[in-house]
Amino acid sequence: MNIALIAHDSKKELMVQFCTAYSRTLSQHKLVATGTTGKMVAEATGLPVQRFLSGTHGGDQQIAARIACNEIDLLLFFRDPINAKPGEPNEMNLLRLCDMHSIPLATNIATAEVLVHGLERGDLDWRDIVNPK
Ligand code: PGA
Repeated sequence: MNIALIAHDSKKELMVQFCTAYSRTLSQHKLVATGTTGKMVAEATGLPVQRFLSGTHGGDQQIAARIACNEIDLLLFFRDPINAKPGEPNEMNLLRLCDMHSIPLATNIATAEVLVHGLERGDLDWRDIVNPK
C-alpha cells in the first residue's frame, strides 16, 4: 500500500519515533512523505521514503494531488493543533480529499496506532481492490 507521511515541525520527532516503532510493518509498504518529514524518517529508520517537496514549498499539495487521484491508501498527518506555522500544510484540503475516496487518515499518534494495527491485521486490504497496484 502507499502510505503518506506528513508531520508539522513540533510533531516530526513523534513521527520518527512512530515509524521506528512500526518500521517492520511499514517496510512492507511504499512510503511517501513531505520533504523534511521524509528525510528524518528515512535517516532514522533506514526505510526507503519517496520524498516530495517540503511542506512550505508545496509538498503537501503534491501528496494531495495523489490523494485526489486515489493513489494513497493511508495518510498519517501528525498536525500541531496549537502552533502550526503559517506555511505549514493546511489539513482541510487533505481531509476533504481523503473523505472523497474514503482513504483512512490519522491526524494524531493514537489514531495512527489503531490504523497501523489494522493494516497489520489486513483490515485495509480492501484498498488493494479499490486501488490495484
Ligand atoms: P515538511 O513538510 O515535512 O517538509 O516539513 C511538512 C510541514 O511543513 O509541516
